[in-house]
Amino acid sequence: MSHWLCVLVQTPAHASLGSVLSYRSESLLAPGTLVRVPLGKRETLGVVWDADAAQATGELDPGKVRDVAGVLEGITPLSANWQQLLTFTAQYYQRSIGEVALAALPPQLRELSPQQVQRRLQRVQKPPSGATPGVDTALPTLSPEQATVVSQIQSQAGPFLLFGATGSGKTEVYLHSVQTLLASEPLSQALVMVPEINLTPQLEARFKARFAPIYGEDAVVSLHSGMTNPQRLKSWLAAHSGTARIVLGTRMAVFASMPQLRLVVVDEEHDPSYKSSEGARYSARDLAVYRGRLESAKVLLGSATPSLESWHHSRPAAEGGRYVRLHMPSRIGAPPAATPDGSPPTARQAMRSTAATPDGLPLVRRVDMNHQHRNAVFSIPLLEAIKERVARGEQSMVFLNRRGYAPVLHCTDCGWKSECPHCSAFRVFHKIDRTLRCHHCGFTERVPRACPTCGNPDIAPLGRGTERLEEHVAELLADVRRPNTVSAEFPDGEPVRVARIDADTTRLKGELQSQLAAVHAGDVDVLVGTQMIAKGHDFRRITLVAAVNPDGALFSSDFRAPERLFSLLMQAAGRAGRDAALGERSEVWIQTFQPAHPLYAALKRHDYPGFATQQLLEREQAGLPPFTAQALVRAEARTQEVAQAFLNAASSAARNDMAQWEGWAPVLDQITLYPAVPMSIQRVANIERAQMLVESPSRAALQQFLTAWQAVLHATRQGPDGKGLVRWAVDVDPLAI
Ligand code: ADP
Ligand code: ZN
Ligand code: ZN
Repeated sequence: MSHWLCVLVQTPAHASLGSVLSYRSESLLAPGTLVRVPLGKRETLGVVWDADAAQATGELDPGKVRDVAGVLEGITPLSANWQQLLTFTAQYYQRSIGEVALAALPPQLRELSPQQVQRRLQRVQKPPSGATPGVDTALPTLSPEQATVVSQIQSQAGPFLLFGATGSGKTEVYLHSVQTLLASEPLSQALVMVPEINLTPQLEARFKARFAPIYGEDAVVSLHSGMTNPQRLKSWLAAHSGTARIVLGTRMAVFASMPQLRLVVVDEEHDPSYKSSEGARYSARDLAVYRGRLESAKVLLGSATPSLESWHHSRPAAEGGRYVRLHMPSRIGAPPAATPDGSPPTARQAMRSTAATPDGLPLVRRVDMNHQHRNAVFSIPLLEAIKERVARGEQSMVFLNRRGYAPVLHCTDCGWKSECPHCSAFRVFHKIDRTLRCHHCGFTERVPRACPTCGNPDIAPLGRGTERLEEHVAELLADVRRPNTVSAEFPDGEPVRVARIDADTTRLKGELQSQLAAVHAGDVDVLVGTQMIAKGHDFRRITLVAAVNPDGALFSSDFRAPERLFSLLMQAAGRAGRDAALGERSEVWIQTFQPAHPLYAALKRHDYPGFATQQLLEREQAGLPPFTAQALVRAEARTQEVAQAFLNAASSAARNDMAQWEGWAPVLDQITLYPAVPMSIQRVANIERAQMLVESPSRAALQQFLTAWQAVLHATRQGPDGKGLVRWAVDVDPLAI
């Protein structure tokens, strides 16, 4: 007897065919089973889905229903929780379930035959070698703050927001919590997420060092997009089969199949890279919280500068907070903020917490650039401070959030600028290979010999990127010598070594690691770079961090820009003086034309709570997230008119047609649809882009509206107002507006 099954497949986005199709099978297959099914002329990977949960939209004519081609036998069906996680993701982020579920599986599964998968499985399921459970490894004794936090995590349900200064030992708290869990529950699994691929090797080394001696090498696996497809499949199978007890990964890891998941850690939870910027634009941090509740796993979010959303969620329960806030204010090695037994701090300790450098954190200095030479890139005192570091054999880090040599090239005669012919943006001048490169569409050309419009040979860079900054630093320090390297060849000492780390210097695989290694080894005196160097890396000998020109974000049209700037500067400050012995004299320099700005004042006090309170107040007054829920619809077309017309048509259909639907008036009353506007970079690669903001004080109302509005958007796309449209997509909880 044959059975009808619903199967999820990946169909082209917005194809008329849905992503849940009907197939026939000789045996009854449980939901979550991985199968191979015919689709058109191809054969593809599918997931058997609960017939009730999903509306099959495929061809139901019995004569046309095709047979399942094969079952991936060795792989146990994906759990009901996993299916629910993916169902929720698709609904919440307004994408098809097939697209979301198939994208969450390792790419290689799509290509392999059931026999090939079988062989991969056998390799993973080898019993772990040399594992001796229960081995005692020497553990660091927890600091009093860490011990308090660890016991709170054990005794409460969470979710937790661990608010801990950089260097306060958050990673050690993660390690401890994972260790306690694995030791107490024999099959349990933990998921630990970090925002960037670049941070995974460091984390993996720390987790392997701790857990491989106890549970074997295979107990810790990574999952991120920098891995090869075979590696990813191997990790995924290890997690799915339970061999892997710990999965470390980037945002994609939130979908890892982990049947015994008991703990989810999201490190640097504020980081924007947890939000996907293509396909289903999910937030892995938010999904981690959802998944934790679904699977009764504890969730631990950690940051020195939490997202304002998470901070708001962790307000006292009496005020409506849903997360438990945990606090670790002191750096490891610095004297604790409170006495270990929890008694009130002594007068001396209380005084320290109001001092300029609380608990081992670096001193923040603001340089008023209004009093410096008009075109100075480095103020005189900052340059002197860097020279002092060089003289002492310490390192400095200078960062600027713009790569390339100069953001624009221009002609001083006729005013020509290096615009990209395909985008509404300038092409950036890269001196190293004398190119003009568009950072949006990639269009690259050699720098012209003379101005393309008037022939003037004198075309000049405008503004400054990291490449030019590096050159400038090297010039300024050209005569400086390192006194501790005096030799016959260098009687006054060797010259200063300046290096740069940004997306341009680290394009090739392995380059970032080797450049970081050079910094760690002390082969660099002054490191120049973008935010890439501000995040996470544990530099021991950096005692000065400088932001040469951070003011831009204070006046950005993006309401999240101050939040991002504050967290970036705090992160950067966290790079300074991580070696406790050097912490005393570590400094963060901010060059600014707005020295009295409250953001910098809060930074000087290392006062994230103060900054957050003020920002949240502004957001509440302005009706912005987290006090409202937002979604963006983006549309792309050959002309701006077409893109906007589509959005405006869908908007008026919502207002006019949906208002007629039974019972919908109260929902629509809570929805604000703004007019369509061009995106801030209006044209990329000759495609015009427009967006429309949808807002509601109620997240539930917004969800209800978006789900129903999908059909309207699809219909508008098919109608006259969709003519000429290239694509459209919804972004729920967008990070950039
Ligand atoms: P964070 O993640 O908060 O920036 P880490 O966990 O990386 O901080 O800890 C900072 C440094 O302090 C690391 O070098 C770590 O090995 C060390 N450390 C953390 N906890 C302890 C402890 N309890 N005893 C000794 N050293 C510790
Ligand atoms: Zn010209
Ligand atoms: Zn371009």
